[in-house]
Amino acid sequence: SRDFRVVVLGSAGVGKSALVQRWVRGNFREAYLPTIEDTYRQALGCSRKAGALHITDTTGGRRYRGLQRLAIARGHAFILVYSVTKKQTLEELKPLYELIRQLKGNNPQKCPIILVGNKCDESHREVSEKEGAAYASEWNCAFLETSAKMNINVQELFQMLINFEKKPAAAA
Ligand code: GDP
Ligand code: MG
Repeated sequence: SRDFRVVVLGSAGVGKSALVQRWVRGNFREAYLPTIEDTYRQALGCSRKAGALHITDTTGGRRYRGLQRLAIARGHAFILVYSVTKKQTLEELKPLYELIRQLKGNNPQKCPIILVGNKCDESHREVSEKEGAAYASEWNCAFLETSAKMNINVQELFQMLINFEKKPAAAA
């Protein structure tokens, strides 16, 4: 099938579900609802042959390492989310990044990753935009700061993924 699977990864509370909800449903909830694993399917274009974008919204918990590993193994592209209000959540992405490279290989064109600093609406910050960008260049991946709450760069984020989907072979 032409389906394209995107996996959203990152520590609990960084806003993974909020980003996906904002894009899929166009809304935002203040309340925190822990996720185990949710999947969403959005059609890409109007023809039936166009396939769909599958989004797997994962959980950060240690108890679910197996699910996380399986989701990564099946994924075509990855969104690594941290919160700009909590430096630790950026550091916690490193083992996930390494696991993706281990399971998917080192070619960034074949296996796109977008590093996302969410909650950029918050005035209290522990991670500057420059610092996030430095991690992204070290990891050879794309970078965006987003706000699911204020709807900043959410369209841009998912558009980037759709663009990857359109030219995977050409880029490889
Ligand atoms: P997840 O565990 O990564 O799925 O995180 P959630 O999407 O459940 O969000 C965790 C908490 O952060 C919730 O209380 C959200 O309302 C809040 N949150 C999510 N995105 C943003 C954002 O862009 N800005 C702000 N200020 N809060 C956010
Ligand atoms: Mg969640």
